[in-house]
Amino acid sequence: EAKRDPGTSYRFYDQQLHISAGYQLRLEADLRNALRGQELELYYQPRIDLATEEVRGVECLIRWNHPERGLVRPDEFIPAAERSGLIVPIGYWVIEQACERLKQAADLGHPGLVFAVNLSFRQFHDRKMTETIFRIIYNANVDTSLLELELTESAMMHDLDYARRCLRELNQLGVSFALDDFGTGFSSLSNLQHLPISLLKIDKSFVQDLGHTADAEHIIRAIISLAHSLQISVVAEGVETEGQLEFLRQQHCDEIQGYYFARPMPWDDLVKFLQNQSQAACLQS
Ligand code: C2E
Ligand code: MG
Ligand code: MG
Ligand code: MG
Repeated sequence: EAKRDPGTSYRFYDQQLHISAGYQLRLEADLRNALRGQELELYYQPRIDLATEEVRGVECLIRWNHPERGLVRPDEFIPAAERSGLIVPIGYWVIEQACERLKQAADLGHPGLVFAVNLSFRQFHDRKMTETIFRIIYNANVDTSLLELELTESAMMHDLDYARRCLRELNQLGVSFALDDFGTGFSSLSNLQHLPISLLKIDKSFVQDLGHTADAEHIIRAIISLAHSLQISVVAEGVETEGQLEFLRQQHCDEIQGYYFARPMPWDDLVKFLQNQSQAACLQS
């Protein structure tokens, strides 16, 4: 990813400045233009299956190619997009784009690759969510079993009945669900068994505490064993070191995602990355 000075542009749009109504309006106008003017782009971060060491799928992560600020990361504009409601059309654009890439990946010889997309709180609670997602996947004519939606605990647990209904409806179409940033919220574990969730993503803060606090090991171990007892797979996020990888392997974590293996990258780079991976696999066998 492009190097930026985090001190200057980080939270460019989400400083106390957003208190100013004028500033908020300017940001909204900019974001609206970004959506129309094709300044938004998806980056893709591979997820590796620890048993086969193959790329299982990719997480789609939004970036804003801002005309003046350069590459802006989501933490800097998603909060404002949530406040303004713009996250709803942006979120649907992300799903459309992911569906297009999913088909391209298959055409390029990577037919089983899972595409994971993040859904924000506001988008998940949009009244037309299931119907809009249905329309997008129907129009795109994709293999829905390769589309995974990531939700955080707070988005899911805010209204359990609603979540259960939406997840079931989309699940019946073949779409699967992942619980993102797991461990940072306060969802009761017993809630998990009533929702069709196939994947749990351990928040990177726990992975990055490995080797620093003994608690991190205990928590990760407990999460993996709980998930597995419910037939839920586990991805560890934010894996940056060999040591973290080895610990997760010992604990039978199913997949890892992190800089140790690959950073989020633009589409063209992902295509090259996948090509290299399959060549390496051919050479090995
Ligand atoms: P997330 O869904 O938890 O995504 C994982 C974040 O961890 C990504 O940050 C990724 O770049 C970062 N990451 C991956 N591996 C490592 C690692 O080894 N070390 C470290 N330090 N970080 C790692 P990113 O791309 O900046 O996205 C931040 C958050 O913005 C995402 O967290 C997600 O909540 C949100 N987001 C991203 N794209 C979208 C989108 O299309 N829609 C919505 N609603 N939210 C999005
Ligand atoms: Mg995510
Ligand atoms: Mg996450
Ligand atoms: Mg996160």
